[in-house]
This record gives sequence, C-alpha cells and structure tokens, in this order.
Amino acid sequence: MATLDNEALWKEALNQLKTELGEREFNDWFTDICYLKSGGKSIAIGFPSAFHRDRVKRSYQDRIRAKLQKLAGKEIILELEVFAKKGVEKVSTPQKPASSPSVETQNGIATVEKGKVSSSQKPKRDHLPQLRDDYTFERYVIGENNNFAANAAIAISRNPGTNYNPFFIYGGVGLGKTHLMQAIGNYIHENSDKKVIYVTSEDFLNEYMECIRETKMNLFKNKFRRTDVLLIDDIQFFAAKWGVQEELFHTFNSILNAKNQVVFTCDCPPSELKKFEERLVSRFEQGLKVDLQPPRYEVRFAIIKSAAEKRGSSIPDEVIDLICKKISSNVRDLIGALNTLVAYAEIMGKQVTLDIAQQKLKDMLVSSKQSNLSMEVIQKVVASYFSVSVNDLKGKKRTQNVVFPRQLAMYICREMTEYSSTEIGEAFGGRDHSTVIYSFEKIRNRFVIDANLDSTVDILKRQVKELGAKM
Ligand code: ADP
Ligand code: MG
Repeated sequence: MATLDNEALWKEALNQLKTELGEREFNDWFTDICYLKSGGKSIAIGFPSAFHRDRVKRSYQDRIRAKLQKLAGKEIILELEVFAKKGVEKVSTPQKPASSPSVETQNGIATVEKGKVSSSQKPKRDHLPQLRDDYTFERYVIGENNNFAANAAIAISRNPGTNYNPFFIYGGVGLGKTHLMQAIGNYIHENSDKKVIYVTSEDFLNEYMECIRETKMNLFKNKFRRTDVLLIDDIQFFAAKWGVQEELFHTFNSILNAKNQVVFTCDCPPSELKKFEERLVSRFEQGLKVDLQPPRYEVRFAIIKSAAEKRGSSIPDEVIDLICKKISSNVRDLIGALNTLVAYAEIMGKQVTLDIAQQKLKDMLVSSKQSNLSMEVIQKVVASYFSVSVNDLKGKKRTQNVVFPRQLAMYICREMTEYSSTEIGEAFGGRDHSTVIYSFEKIRNRFVIDANLDSTVDILKRQVKELGAKM
C-alpha cells in the first residue's frame, strides 16, 4: 500500500536527518512533526504551529524533500500543514526562576540556546502577526553592550507583570530595541495563554485619534487596558502630544494595577524626555530601565556570522571581517550590508570574495561614513539653496524665510543620516528632539499640498551627496 510505504519513507528520512543534524538540532525542530497522509506524489506532514512550520520550511524544506526523493527514487511533493495534536498539554510557563537567566557565554558573547529560553516542545498558538517571527531571543546575540538588557528581558518573559514594571528599553537607532521588545512578545505568546499587544507609538496614536473621531473610546480602552502584555515601541514619538499621553497614563495604570506587563522602547532615557507629562516620566522611572550600547567588533562579528548562517549563506569570514571593521555605528547598517552581499551572491550565483565585497560595499561605506559628518554638509547645502546662513538655521529667528529651510534641513538630516532626533536637535542650536520630530512631520505633511517640494528635496539630497563625497 502506497500510504504505508510513504510513512515508512518518512520515518527513514527522519532517521537519516537525525544523524546528519545531530540530536540537539533535530530535537528542536523534528520531534514534534508528524506524518499525516499521502496521495500520489505528495506526502503531508503536520506541525504543531504555523510558527514551527514556517521555521522548518525556511530552513529545512529543500533538504527534507531531497531526502524523500532520494529514498523514493521519484519526485515528491511535500505538503506542510499545521496540525494541532489532540490532547496537547497546556504549555507550561517557563520553568526556570527569573533570577537565573540561562545564557551561555563564550568570550562574553552569547546567543540564547533554544530550549533554554523557550520550551520549544509544544508551541500551540499561531505566530502573532504583529510580531516578526525572527525577532526572538534565539536570534539575539548577547555581548557586554546588551547583556543586562537581554537578561532582564528574558527574566521578564518568564514572569511578566511581576517585578520589573514597566520595562523601559532605551538606546540609539538600530541597536536592537525593537528586536528585544518583540522577542519578549514572541516568547510570552508562544509559551503562555497571555494576550500580547505590540504597537508602534505612531499606530497607538493613530488608533487613539480614530477612536476619538468616531466616538469609540470604549473600544480603545477595552483593547489596550485589558491586555496582559502591552509593548509600545519608540515612545519618544509622543513628545508634546498631550492628549495621547494622558490616555497612555491611564492605560498604563490599569495594566499595572492588574499586575500585567508594560514594555516601552525609547531613543533616550526617561530623564531626557522633553514635553512629556511629569507623572508619566516618573512612572517610567519607577520601573526597570536598561540601555543598549553599540556592540564592539567581536559582537558585531558574531551578529553578522549568525545572520549569514541563518540565511543559509556562506559569506567568507574575511568578508564578514570587512563589514564589521568598516561599519560600527549600528547593527541595522551591518545587517543592511550583509543583505546587499547575500542578494548579490544569490542573483549572480557567485561566492562573495573580498574584492567583490569591497566593490559592492563602496557605496554603502561611503554613505555610512558620510552619515557621521553630513549634518554639517546638509546645513551648508540647504542654507546656500535658500540664501540664508548656517547660523540662521541654528539660530532662533522665527521668520518664515528661515523657519522653512530650518525644518527642511532637519527633515533631510532624519532622512539621510542615522542620527537620532536628539542629536539632530543638538546640531540645530540645541533644540530638543520633539522639535525635530515636529519639523519632520510638518515637512512630510507639506508634500501633500506643495507639488514642488519633491523635486526640491531631490535636488538638495543630490547636492548633499556631491558635497559630502568631496569632503
Ligand atoms: P532599533 O529598534 O533599536 O532601532 P532594531 O531592533 O530594529 O533596532 O535592530 C536593527 C537590526 O539589527 C534588526 O535587524 C535586528 O534584528 C538586528 N539586531 C540588533 N541587535 C542585534 C543583536 N544583538 N543580535 C542580533 N541581531 C540584532
Ligand atoms: Mg525600533
């Protein structure tokens, strides 16, 4: 009977994969898969969750199919289905006490071992769509720059709502705030029945405005005040937005009173938040604050190495070394560089050599170097275009002929550099970051009504690049 044969085939494939992958990797991903059915050329296997299925699909599908085909000596169509096993035990809450985060270190660098943080045995819920499924603890490389933050995040994931509330993660652009926050969400969602909500501050504000407009505030309150875990990303965005701050304050209190968990990320520590209600800031201060610093070379290397491996790409170490030496500002740029090279390798079907890497990264390296100098360049270009002085841009004059170029220059700084709004504010005569955000939005809104703005911005950006390249 064909059905039996195929099931036997599947078992044999599993046996072989176990030997090839090793016990540990095999146990992480294969023990919970079951044979479902087959028909014609197809074999269907079942997964306990969509999350699990997608992971296996990404990393092992081709290998499994190839193995089956080899064993069967014919073409096989592999079907991956989500299949909730009957009587799946309730997923246990994390076993280990919060005080002993289990992160293995090597030279002070670590990734969290699967199974140590997540009880990977029986994930039963579908992946939460608001969260990126690759933003997990397993994929978070830990070094001395983020050690405390990551361990605190792990502890909180195991016991949300108890000790560290709110949890306040702060640090510069691209240092891993969003990844860490979503790892908390993914972990709790996967390992408990708790309701997790992740929102960016912008979405929180938009939803709030919409509910006010349509007099549906009850909906808003029910949604956000009654969740078990609320993750709000980039709260610096709420500066000077007093209405939503008030709502946030009440949301926050309800959740805390119910002993549920709140996590925030921000580009600065609470004490540096300007145009925020004092009672809100003092609430932020009462929880646990952790900061993320830029990683040193070894940590950058580990991050890129693991990102490349996860993508199944064999970028040579000397190329990774080049990326990590040239780009030090933030992890997002590092990953961006890696992606450029991986895409090149995939499209061209070539190995990335040091020469190729140097060439491909040239643009990127130039622009990332530029981003360290170019605020001055942007100010020069914008000032000369509008016939005002750089000092006017930095100064206090409020006449329209100065205000517009000033806002536009800040806008371009945010678009073209990796500086935080706090740093941009500094460069514009010590303005605070909410002014920078305000200017940015002001310009962005203006695109709608000013048909020429697009081309003006294009011209300015081109001039900035040209002048930047000469400096
Ligand atoms: P932020 O929110 O602080 O601006 P992100 O969380 O968006 O930064 O991180 C930018 C990129 O860098 C993401 O692709 C993220 O996965 C990656 N990243 C940051 N820190 C780490 C880390 N420690 N290990 C692995 N990847 C990281
Ligand atoms: Mg972020």
